[in-house]
Amino acid sequence: MNTKEFGSGLGFADLHNHLYGSLRPELLWKIGYENPSPRWDIFTKPFQELYGKKINTESFFEDYRSKEDFEKLYLFNHQGPFPEFQAKFNLIIALSKFNPEEIRFVSKRVTKDQFEEGVSFGEYRIMYAPNDTYEGIYSKTLASCEGFAEVESELSGKASSRLVISLHRDGNVFKEYDMVKEMMEKDPIIRKYVVGLDFCYIEEGFPPKDKKEFLSQVQKDNRAETSTALTVLYHVGESFQDKTILSAARWVLESAEWGAHRLGHAIALGMDPNAYAGKTISETSSERKDTLTYLLDHWEEVSKYGEISSKERLSAELDSIRHKEKTEISITETQVSETKAYQEYCMDRIRNTSAIIESCPSSNEYIGMVRDKSHHPLIRFAKHGLKFTISTDDPGIFGTDIREEYRKAESLGLSQDQLEKVRKDSFLYTSEILSGRLPVKDGVYSE
Ligand SMILES: [Zn+2]
Repeated sequence: MNTKEFGSGLGFADLHNHLYGSLRPELLWKIGYENPSPRWDIFTKPFQELYGKKINTESFFEDYRSKEDFEKLYLFNHQGPFPEFQAKFNLIIALSKFNPEEIRFVSKRVTKDQFEEGVSFGEYRIMYAPNDTYEGIYSKTLASCEGFAEVESELSGKASSRLVISLHRDGNVFKEYDMVKEMMEKDPIIRKYVVGLDFCYIEEGFPPKDKKEFLSQVQKDNRAETSTALTVLYHVGESFQDKTILSAARWVLESAEWGAHRLGHAIALGMDPNAYAGKTISETSSERKDTLTYLLDHWEEVSKYGEISSKERLSAELDSIRHKEKTEISITETQVSETKAYQEYCMDRIRNTSAIIESCPSSNEYIGMVRDKSHHPLIRFAKHGLKFTISTDDPGIFGTDIREEYRKAESLGLSQDQLEKVRKDSFLYTSEILSGRLPVKDGVYSE
């Protein structure tokens, strides 16, 4: 089989996707052109700071009228730190109105665009401003759900989309969750189309332990009432600038064991720690303390996966950092093998949960922490028999599509058979099935 032909004529489920990050360049240009008052400040200042280019807002739509020029400005398809990605994402925020009318239109268009690229089922995440009102959030959510319902009928049910609401990691998540549940009770379209909750954006500083109680509450509610059950989709182990890969792997494990249904990226779980060999990582002492305590508490089990520091050494380090705020960890050969053993342990434990990993190759390559393809975790995930899906994340801004992501997964080392299995299985990993809302047999939209 030729690589280019993989999945041709077959449908894909794209489960990790952000609605506005899916806007194609020509569509974003048009949205901006028709917007009488783009919020230029959001875009121009940080863009100039990071890319050194001054944007003339007066002649913007003339300057970037050609598809090529606009793509160059908008697409983020190079390796760069998160702020560079955000600076480009700000163009979306600046040019769009983000009102119900536009959200309905975007929900339809994105579904159609992705359907043309092979996606027959998509779950899209939407994030509201933290200060938006209940009425504002309600009207936007309803507009998106109605857009999905309309496009589904226009496409005669050949493509379906569902909505996932991104909560704010630093907000009152219980309150935001109540709001989602209230909207679902109020409107049958919202009840049908809203299927999950997401945590995204900066993860540093927001350990999963702070969301443990929340995860448990959602699980409890899902069991009590399956018709409105929701998944929790949790971006974790994607970015870990503030800690070691070992601590970040623990975050992924904790998220899975505490009940997150799908894990966004989970790079730290399987990325080759050799990527950090010879470097010194700075970590808060409280984070290091959590990691050392975990290793001490599970020493016998973890050490079955490879040599790890002795209990005495771990205890001594724990004592030594007690009164420090920060700690510096040199990634020696011993650290690398210890991390590998710990990752193996975590992967085996995660295999025994129902959590699904969402792997997004382009996103990992551009903004994730994978600088070298050979360090990418996907092959290790496959070797360990972990359940995973392949997704586009922000196909509009990354200039990618679902087939391209499968091609990238193949270039990382997955076989065509493995890819076909992932493609099919992804239809079983939808929020409606994972949350218990639909039995597996009713949840398969298309294979
Ligand atoms: Zn994402």
